Amino acid sequence: MRLEYWHAEQNGLVRCPVTGCHHIGTVITKTHLRLEHGLTRDEVQNQFGFPKKVHKLNRAEIEKMIEQKNSGVKA
Ligand SMILES: [Zn+2]
Repeated sequence: MRLEYWHAEQNGLVRCPVTGCHHIGTVITKTHLRLEHGLTRDEVQNQFGFPKKVHKLNRAEIEKMIEQKNSGVKA
């Protein structure tokens, strides 16, 4: 397994590949996948692929993300 796929490059971030999950961080941890999705990295990789690399967010993008997270309760 290529561990580096689950880590962001320097000054970057990665987004959890699971559909509907907006988790973003410098690394997508096994703990996140297990606790939030009940899946291992292998299972997530098979079903959803590797995390998407994202550029470091600016303040407006972060606020938009928080907004979406808060308004996502009804779904
Ligand atoms: Zn996730």
